Amino acid sequence: VRHTSFIRTAFLFALIFCLGVPSAFAQQPPSEFSPELSATLEKLRRAALTSDYGYRQAERLTNKIGPRLSGSPQAQRATEHLAAELKRVGFDVRLEKVMVPHWVRGAETGELVEYPERPSQTTQKIVLTALGGSVATPNDGLTAEVVVAESFERLKTLGRENVAGKIVVFTSRFDERLATQGQASEAYRLVSPYRTQGPSEAARLGAVAALNASAGGGGNRLPHTGSVVYAPDAPKIPAAALAAEDAELIAGLAKQGKVVLRLTLTPQTLPDVESCNVIADLKGSEFPEQIVIVSGHLDSWDLGTGALDDAAGLTAALGAVHAVKELGLKPRRTIRFIAWMNEENGVAGGRAYAADHQSNIANHVAAIEADSGAGRPFGVTALAGDPAVAMLHPLTQILKPMDAGVIHATARIGATDLQPLAALGVPIFSPLQDMRTYFTYHHTAADTFDKINPHELAQCAAVLAVLAYAIADMPDRLPRNERNDAKR
Ligand SMILES: [Zn+2]
Repeated sequence: VRHTSFIRTAFLFALIFCLGVPSAFAQQPPSEFSPELSATLEKLRRAALTSDYGYRQAERLTNKIGPRLSGSPQAQRATEHLAAELKRVGFDVRLEKVMVPHWVRGAETGELVEYPERPSQTTQKIVLTALGGSVATPNDGLTAEVVVAESFERLKTLGRENVAGKIVVFTSRFDERLATQGQASEAYRLVSPYRTQGPSEAARLGAVAALNASAGGGGNRLPHTGSVVYAPDAPKIPAAALAAEDAELIAGLAKQGKVVLRLTLTPQTLPDVESCNVIADLKGSEFPEQIVIVSGHLDSWDLGTGALDDAAGLTAALGAVHAVKELGLKPRRTIRFIAWMNEENGVAGGRAYAADHQSNIANHVAAIEADSGAGRPFGVTALAGDPAVAMLHPLTQILKPMDAGVIHATARIGATDLQPLAALGVPIFSPLQDMRTYFTYHHTAADTFDKINPHELAQCAAVLAVLAYAIADMPDRLPRNERNDAKR
């Protein structure tokens, strides 16, 4: 008897261990959706999966309108096009004013004019691209010796005596193996500070320019742009990203002797421009004052046509609200579609929204943003407390037929425009996607429409539609985030 009871107890423990029952489920019974809500969500999932609406809109934004950097005529055209399109579909549309930076890329060239064993009267071309927001070099360029720093620690060790008057080259490379293992965002997080903060760190030690190995993967000698964030207490120096191959070339030559680079960057920073977030509401039937945001960003970098970043996320969100509208569904709460302006170089749109709606933040039930490319979704990432995640647990069943039934609670979510709302306690969600090749194209000239797979885009739209509609139509609203939910 004792033997059997031991086996039974051991089995029970093993079962609990295998299921890994989350604490929230242990405290309260798992929630269920009503049969009506489940049926509606299944219908919505099927409709979004079989629609090419988002894909067609992505084609319009990328191939027809083109790159959409804040302040550019294309960004302006994109807001007009989207507002008109949303009105045509039947939404209440409004434009909320946002002042955005207006930076325009100029010439960008680099060449090695001196290096060990250089054949006389030759130079070696270096592939680079100016970082967004960079100041210019003189029109005919600046010429200086290169100093290589593998890391910020190395830069510190080198000190002012080795850095002043030189061009600092940060050679820390994007870890492609990490990306292949499904940790692309982590790989990006490890190297992007050399782009954002590197120039000011170098300038504090007297550097005249800073270059970083591109914060992204891929081996086709493509430089990746992105923002430089100048510190207010450091001189502003010209900043550019090198193709990974060129960073390696310079590092290899610098090990053998003196390397001198001529760098020419002629970007311009023009006065700020008035732009907008494009906002479209599908009014709630029972609690219209309660809001569920579903969004992506409309602006993009200027080298490609901003397809993966972020026409894909934006049009997946658009496809989601379009499917809700097409089926004539009326959720209890308001679903608010937002196309954010200026995610890439300032987050002015996300900040303006949080500031303008501060008095109404308590009515923001949840905010969703897709900004991780067009890769196939596995489910949902949640920056939300255990009770909120438990309430959404039935979604796993709705999304299972498309193999997207994962709800992954996290403290770090790639939804930059929503960070101001997250700081105010609004639960934040994003699709959980395959990002293995995202940073191969991200912020490069190769971020173009052909990279979007229509079926995978429709899958993203389906995940967003089901998630947004469930939150908007559940009888109880999601609880706001506690302080520690963002730090789990
Ligand atoms: Zn983005």
